[in-house]
Formats: sequence, structure tokens, C-alpha cells
Amino acid sequence: ATVYGLDNESPLREGMPTSATNPYGWSKVMNEQILTDYCGSDKNFSAVLLRYFNPIGAHPSGLIGENPCGIPNNIMPYITQVAVGKLPELHIFGQDYPTPDGTGVRDYIHVLDLGEGHVQALDYAFTHPGAIEINLGTSRGYSVLELVKEFEKASGVKIPYVIDPRRPGDVASVFADASRAENLLAWRARRNLAQMCRDSWNWQQKNPDGYAQ
Ligand code: UDP
Repeated sequence: ATVYGLDNESPLREGMPTSATNPYGWSKVMNEQILTDYCGSDKNFSAVLLRYFNPIGAHPSGLIGENPCGIPNNIMPYITQVAVGKLPELHIFGQDYPTPDGTGVRDYIHVLDLGEGHVQALDYAFTHPGAIEINLGTSRGYSVLELVKEFEKASGVKIPYVIDPRRPGDVASVFADASRAENLLAWRARRNLAQMCRDSWNWQQKNPDGYAQ
């Protein structure tokens, strides 16, 4: 969903103009263009351009989870590493956004819902030539403070935090309009924020040092 850039207002819809603010984002925009052009030139070809919102969670078995290298950039692995005692406190990037509690709002989606979206997308691609962009999100945003509260409830662990300045390039609120996925793929996210927190925490507890051990 980074292809929506900074200028579109949520809920983000697939027809909105795309742009990017960094090479990572441009690589997505460029690849969407290449796949769309290729599908235009070969009528037997199909592509479903999935736009992920904020995937978190883990496999409920605790065997497969998120294991970033070094200090995590994303919020959930940061929170779980604070919870497990590897990092002292969470740094919340800004509490002066125009959102209900001032912290950034994102559309967190369970990684298993994301996986199921891929299966549905493959089914769709087999029967529909051409390229189509599809959001995979829940259509619902949560703030950083709401996420922290939900995680504390799921884990029973208090997450100490400090408020830092805004992170450059962050926007106040990002969430999907996921109706195209529902209409075309018969898919919708089924797992709630509590399940996302529970499964992230389960994985981190079972793998305090990630896969290194
Ligand atoms: N965030 C934060 N502290 C962190 C990492 C992220 O407060 O250590 C905030 C960030 O400003 C955004 C949200 O958490 O509002 C999600 O950030 P993340 O980097 O996970 O995903 P992004 O939406 O940037 O792709």
C-alpha cells in the first residue's frame, strides 16, 4: 500500500493515483506498471497486484513469525521485543497527529488473512486475464496507543513507552477500502486485533531470540 504515497486520503481505494516517497515505494509502483503493461500486451497473462496494509501477527503454532534483523523498524516486532525484555521501551513516533489520540492510525491485518488473500487472488488470476490492483486490509484503522493497549491485554505485559517526534515520511492515518477484495475475491479479513497481538506475542515468547537460537 506504499504505492498510495502521501497525498491520498484514507480510506484508500485502488483507483487513486500512485506515487512513492522512497526507492522501496518506487520499486512497487514500477513493478505494478510493468505487470500492467505486460498484461496489456499479452491477453493470456494475468496479474493481481496485491496492496498490503500493515501485516502483523504470526502463525498460531508459534513456529513461524516475524524475525527482523537488528532493531525493528516496524511497530509490532518492536513491541514484542520490549515485552520480552530485549528492548527497554517503545518509542512512539508523534502524538500530535490529527487522529483521536494523536498517534498514527494504521490498518493492521493478520498475516494469515493476508495469506488467504493470496490464495483467493491466485484463483482469480487463473480465470481472469488482465491486471488488477486489490487492497488487502481490514478497512479499519487503529492508533499506536490502541495497539499498545490491545497488546497489553493479550499478553498481560505492560509496555513502557516514550513519545518521540514524528518519523519523517509518516502520515497520520492509513487504512484501506477493502471492498474490491470482497467483491472480486470473496475475501475479507476475519481475524481481529486481539488475535494479531496474541499470535505475535506467542511467537516472540517461543522464540525470544528469533530464529538465531
Ligand atoms: N511506529 C512507532 N514506533 C515504532 C515504529 C512505528 O510509533 O517504533 C508507528 C508509526 O509512526 C506508524 C505505525 O507505528 O504510525 C506503524 O508503523 P510501521 O513502521 O509498523 O508501518 P508503516 O505504516 O510505517 O508501514
